[in-house]
Amino acid sequence: MKKIVRTLFVCATALLAVSCSNEPKVKNIIFLIGDGMGLAQVSGVSLINNWEPLAMERAEYIGLQKSYSANNRVTDSAASGTALATGHKTYNSAIGVDVDKNPVPSTRELAQAAGYATGVVATYSVTNATPASFVAHEETRYAEDNIALDYLEADIDLFIGGGTRFFMERRDGRNLAEELKAKGFTVATDMAELDGVTEGKVAALLAPNAMPTIGQGRSKDYLPGATAKALEILSNNSKKGFFVMIEGSQIDGGGHDNNMVKIYEETVDFDNAVKVAFDFADTHPGTLVVVTADHETGGLSLVSGKTDFTLPEQGVKYEFGTTGHSATWLPIYAYGEGAEEFSGVMENTDIAKKMQKLLGLVE
Ligand code: MG
Ligand code: ZN
Repeated sequence: MKKIVRTLFVCATALLAVSCSNEPKVKNIIFLIGDGMGLAQVSGVSLINNWEPLAMERAEYIGLQKSYSANNRVTDSAASGTALATGHKTYNSAIGVDVDKNPVPSTRELAQAAGYATGVVATYSVTNATPASFVAHEETRYAEDNIALDYLEADIDLFIGGGTRFFMERRDGRNLAEELKAKGFTVATDMAELDGVTEGKVAALLAPNAMPTIGQGRSKDYLPGATAKALEILSNNSKKGFFVMIEGSQIDGGGHDNNMVKIYEETVDFDNAVKVAFDFADTHPGTLVVVTADHETGGLSLVSGKTDFTLPEQGVKYEFGTTGHSATWLPIYAYGEGAEEFSGVMENTDIAKKMQKLLGLVE
């Protein structure tokens, strides 16, 4: 009898252990994407700053990822955004659909369905390729009016960025801001309107399309502040945890323009948001922060020589190989719970798959 009781006890303990091990160890994921931020962009900022450490350098684990898409060795932001969001390689310009144009769920959607609070933050329109990949399903990134409709239909807690053009000045005449309000969203067109908002559904649409660049006068408080606000609201919206994607959208534009000043300013701005995320992870156990890019832009190289670059100069010439994207491997900086999963060389799609596993969304 004693032996049977003990056996039962051991089984119960084993069962408990099994159910405990199924409990996801990661509670919150903060996924930061620097659009167009290759290793040369990060290195360039570091040397312009005289090697003053970036927040990214606090990363506990470093990895590398391959960004190529299903139909091109040089990806665009839609295919790479979809890969990072859903774990599927697809064709350039696809938003949340696979090579056969079938919708594939994003980590954000799976997380929302499982009871997590979710959101996206950007410095370009929320309908632009990177954030759209986490929310919408469209055959082409250029269907931005449709992508805005996908936001309206989505189960999502929060989105912050530009895009009034696609929500309020639409070709079909609908005012999606009013429709979002009817669905219970607080709709803001200025970050100050969110000062007293600490929970609930939030849509902040702060510019017609792209927000201004730092050079055009975007506040340096915007991205770090929007990051902190998103973390506060999403934490309050679900006890289970949250998933948020935060994009430094305009590093890419600096690469397309072959403009090192713009790359510098936008990368520093993005790094300030990384600092907010890492600090949050320090005080909120169970938080994972992953920082990476969708592709490199500009084919930037840092070579010896003089330049007319207007920032403090240390004998480095910034040379660009293209006004488009390039195919170089991209850095991954991981911090917090589960960060060790992101060391090594991997596909961009592996990042989504690992996140889904860590949140207990897939086996
Ligand atoms: Mg982008
Ligand atoms: Zn680009």
